[in-house]
Parts: sequence; structure tokens; C-alpha cells
Amino acid sequence: MTSSAKVTNGWRVPAAALAAVGFIAFASDVAAQAAPTRGPLVLTRQGIAPPLPITGSIPQPAAKPAAIQSGQPQTAPVKEWSGEDGASGHPLMTAAAIRQAAANFPYCVANLWPDAAKRNISRDSFERYTAGLTPDLRIMDFVDAQPEFTKAVWDYLDILVTDARLARGREMLATHRATFDAVEKAYGVDRYIVAAIWGIESNYSTQGGDRSVLRSTATLACIGRRQAYFKDEFLSALEILHRGDLSPGQLKGSWAGAFGATQFMPTAFKRSAIDFDGDGRRDVVDSVADIVASTANKFKKDGWRAGETWGYEVEVPRGFNYALADRSKSMTIAQWERLGIRRAGDKAFPRAGDKAFLLAPGGAEGPGFLMLPNFRAIMRYNPAEAYALAIGHFADRLRGGAPLVQNWPREERVLTRAERLELQQLLSQRGFYRGEPDGNLGTGTRDAVRSFQASIGAPADGFASSGVLDRLRRR
Ligand code: CA
Repeated sequence: MTSSAKVTNGWRVPAAALAAVGFIAFASDVAAQAAPTRGPLVLTRQGIAPPLPITGSIPQPAAKPAAIQSGQPQTAPVKEWSGEDGASGHPLMTAAAIRQAAANFPYCVANLWPDAAKRNISRDSFERYTAGLTPDLRIMDFVDAQPEFTKAVWDYLDILVTDARLARGREMLATHRATFDAVEKAYGVDRYIVAAIWGIESNYSTQGGDRSVLRSTATLACIGRRQAYFKDEFLSALEILHRGDLSPGQLKGSWAGAFGATQFMPTAFKRSAIDFDGDGRRDVVDSVADIVASTANKFKKDGWRAGETWGYEVEVPRGFNYALADRSKSMTIAQWERLGIRRAGDKAFPRAGDKAFLLAPGGAEGPGFLMLPNFRAIMRYNPAEAYALAIGHFADRLRGGAPLVQNWPREERVLTRAERLELQQLLSQRGFYRGEPDGNLGTGTRDAVRSFQASIGAPADGFASSGVLDRLRRR
């Protein structure tokens, strides 16, 4: 899978809740750089990440039930575009640039016809689906939103892995057992992972956005700073309609263009959608067979290894060198065991030769995880480690597994943007941080926090917590 596809998923996933969920520690620089290219808030990799767009995937109080659940779309007061400059400072995101691009919108869409023709979209279809299309400028506010608060990884897991959602998941697995059997056999992808994606992305088709995907992607293809990326999404959405896989009424979703039970972007649909029930349409909105098979097929294409799990909760010994807790530092389970890592709950690792990396999203005071190659396949759905951890853990729970054994450092508070800046400034003043304070907690900040922690004799886990900030302030 290409990196752009990863970005696709990055866009897709996080719902308001996720949007609100940021990890505290370990944001990566890559994520920080990606930030400006994503939507409203974000939680990426291991750190507070730059904004991920909000989609219907994560339940939160403000989320509207989708039509599937309510029987009919609920109407909310329509909010207009703020008319303000975007927070990114990108020249295409100024209010003047947005107005100008909006005025040019009909011409921009019309000019996409040659590209549509190359995709074998008929002139008839092109005209039918683009007739009367208007831009949804409210999306411009979402693209550049900069949330002040984020959630800790444990809050994120609490929100996503609930008894109610698990119960619903087990019910769906039982009701559609024959389908899951057939799909597992056909694609070699763990049914519990597929069921976890369905549960977390749309709460089993009961939550999702109600924006026209065609309109959203057309808006983003013609206005703002992500036009090249969304041109492909818009044209792919047109292909879906032209082929008749989905009707315009079904093609509704998040402002960033993700739709259906497992929130595919149009390009991800094009790559992975399957007509598993054989009715001639790849219906990832209303056909359970197509939903389950398409999602499994995406995992297969993203490198899912049949018969293997995603990772294990582990106990990390006191005094452990947390510089090894890094996605680039892959070792065999046997090597990790020699360093004192143990599987939580007094269990043995099934295969000592598996390669894994260590993740410690709550620092030394929280659980560790050894992540296998399938964890990376989950991250292709959404490049946020908290997301992938939630999916993996949710799948284990659906399978009958127990809650995590170790506690999270719940007394730690997630830093606000202002506090993240202060943290970087204090680290900089004390000679630990050389970058420009920007509020994005990347690897540079993590290394600086580690150096500071080492200097005061604390476990050097690099976890940019409220506790670390407090200690910096006192010195
Ligand atoms: Ca079908």
C-alpha cells in the first residue's frame, strides 16, 4: 500500500472523538509534518498529532445517528463557513483564496471532464452527477481546525472499547457467522479484526456522516490545500456512481469523503471493494457480505498475515532503556525476552521468532505492547497508534480475551497546545531541545524529554506528560 493510501486512511478515520483524542507522548516528527496535510485534529502515531479529520467513525455525544439507525436522516442546523482564514497559514486557505476558488468552482469541476473520460466515465454520467454541484465551504473550517484539547490513549480506549459495542459486535459475529466463515476462508483475515473495524468505524452501521461524498470530495478537489489528493478521490467517487456500485443516496459520509460501514475513501473502495454476495454491485453500505469481504480484502492487500495476531500486552522491567521503544527498532520476541520483557498476565509468547517493536504509549507507568507485522496492517487503516491499538484490543475482546492487565497512568493529564509549547520552551531553555517550539510533540521532543528525565534520575520514557511539565516548571 502506498503512503498516500495511508494518508487516505488518516483522513478517514477519526471521528470527533478520535479527533479529540490525542496521544500524549511520542508524537513523531513524521506525524508532525503530516499534520498540516490533514484535517482537524489528530492523533497520530504515538503522539499528539496533527489533526485528523472527523468522520463518523467514533461515537461521541455530538455524533448523529446515521440514517441506517434512525430510518431517516436527521437534520441538524446547517452551519455556514466561518469565512475566516484557515489556521494552517497555507496560501490556499486564506478566506480570500477560498472565496476565489469557490467562485471558480463550476469551472474547476467542468475542467475535470477529460480526467473523468480517461476513467471511462460517460459524458452522461459526468453531467448527471455534477449538475448543480455546489461547494460545501463549511469543510474548509474542518480542514484547518486546531483543537486545543486532546485525549489520552486510555481515554481513547475507554471511548471505543465499551461493553455495549462489544456486545453488539458479538451479536453481529453470531448473526452473520456464515458470512464471516466464508470471508475468513477466502481472505485469511481474522474475523475479529474485521468486526472490530466495523464496530469502531460506524458502531456497526449505526453512526456515520451524512454529507454527500461527491460534494465533499469535489469541494476539496477544487478549494483549499489538498486539491491534488482529493481530485483522485472525487474522480473515484464518480466512478463508483457511474458503475452503479452505490447510489448517490448511499454515497454519504464524513466531510473528508469516507463512507460506508467501514469508512472507505473512494480510492480505497476502488482498490479493495468486493462484490461478495454476487449481485453485481460492490455495496459497502448495505450488504453485510460486501462490507465484511471488502474490509478483509483491504487487510489482505495491506499485508495481513493469516494465522498471526497483532501484538501482545507486555510488562517492561524497571530501568528499561526506552530508547528501544521505537517503531524502527524491530527485534524477535526472544531478543525482547532477553531484555526482560514479559508477556502480561503470566502468559507465554506463542512464537519466539516473531519480529516485533515495542510501544509504550503511556510511558513507564503504563502497559507496554510488542507489536507484530499485523499491527502495521491495522495502521494502514488509520496511521494512529492509538487507533490500531484500540482495534487490536477490541478484536481480542470480541474473541473472548480479557481487559488489559496493567493500569494506565490516569493521573497524568493531556497537555493543552499552550502547555506543549511551554514544555518545548522549557526543554529548550535547559538545553535539551534544539527544535523550534511548535506544539507538535515529535521525536525531537521525545528525545529531549528523555534527556531531561535522565538528568533527574526518572525513568527516561520520553512521555511528555503533565508530570514532566510540572517538574520542568519547578526547576
Ligand atoms: Ca454485492
